[in-house]
Amino acid sequence: MRDPMTFGSGNMIDPFGRSITYLRVSVTDRCDFRCTYCMAEDMTFLPKKDLLTLEELERLCSVFISKGVRKLRLTGGEPLVRRNVMHLVRDLSRHLKTGELEELTLTTNGSQLARFATELADCGVRRINVSLDTLDPQKFREITRWGDFSKVMSGIDAAQAAGLKIKINAVALKGFNDQEIPDMLRWAHGRGMDLTVIETMPMGEIDADRTDQYLPLSKLRADLERQFTLTDIPYKTGGPARYVEVKETGGRVGFITPMTHNFCESCNRVRLTCTGTLYMCLGQEDAADLRAALRASEGDEAVSRAIDEAIGRKPKGHDFVIDRRTRKPSVSRHMSVTGG
Ligand code: SAM
Ligand code: SF4
Repeated sequence: MRDPMTFGSGNMIDPFGRSITYLRVSVTDRCDFRCTYCMAEDMTFLPKKDLLTLEELERLCSVFISKGVRKLRLTGGEPLVRRNVMHLVRDLSRHLKTGELEELTLTTNGSQLARFATELADCGVRRINVSLDTLDPQKFREITRWGDFSKVMSGIDAAQAAGLKIKINAVALKGFNDQEIPDMLRWAHGRGMDLTVIETMPMGEIDADRTDQYLPLSKLRADLERQFTLTDIPYKTGGPARYVEVKETGGRVGFITPMTHNFCESCNRVRLTCTGTLYMCLGQEDAADLRAALRASEGDEAVSRAIDEAIGRKPKGHDFVIDRRTRKPSVSRHMSVTGG
């Protein structure tokens, strides 16, 4: 059991009574891929000088952990392309050893996993999410623009060999991978990996038209039910996915449906960017600057107060809409700012 006297200044509870126990940290906005639904090909990234150092990121994360965060996910951009990112992972892993943090994990495109899998496992990372939208190398190149399918496959092999549990995340894209999801399901389950499918969210200007990409998962589920027997199960990983078990494979499929189903009532998370900006909701623009408070003093009281103030403004939920008339994203920042 957590002892608040030992572990810092108590829990973070938002105005709707939700306890904030999950922090997602985007350690860089840069990426070695340019997935068409996520980024424009000629993305402008933040100047390096605006980034928090790894030490500052670690300090901020530690304040959140002292305030009740039990699960921390590194994301990006591509978290494993930030220089020396393993220093951060190693520093954060000390909170796993003390038991303050229950889980340290990451979401990755898999391109660098062959290099880092063993070290991640050594730092106490147990499960990771790998984003993969197709098993066809040609289509993979088309959707990621710059990605190398064989590198991702070697990364997945290396991660499994290092003992990391993998969940595959696939964004459902109409006319691109909807027909392929059954094969991806068999492949993932055949290798002991869960598969989660995600609806595209209208975030940031991209080159493509999102109304063409959007595929409601209710449709995908109905299609899957023509080939598989799906049973709803109460399985939870602390995220918004609703899971089914597939009788034919014995594996699990998760559905993340921000567009067709509002999952905000059980939201337990906030998102920190690599510049120290805290977003209280993925689907809203409001944010708090923690960098100023962090840099203003060596002690953590000012940061802690800034965090409390921010949590006090966490909104009830998002209002994502893919608008056919304006074709404008609901949220102007790209997903790579907050890391999903
Ligand atoms: N680069 C890493 C990766 O791809 O796993 C981590 C960051 S990426 C922004 C996190 C997740 O967001 C990926 O699974 C990606 O497919 C998803 N994503 C990106 N843009 C999205 C969008 N507009 N709608 C839904 N999911 C999106
Ligand atoms: Fe990079 Fe991940 Fe965005 Fe693809 S989804 S461009 S891998 S940040």
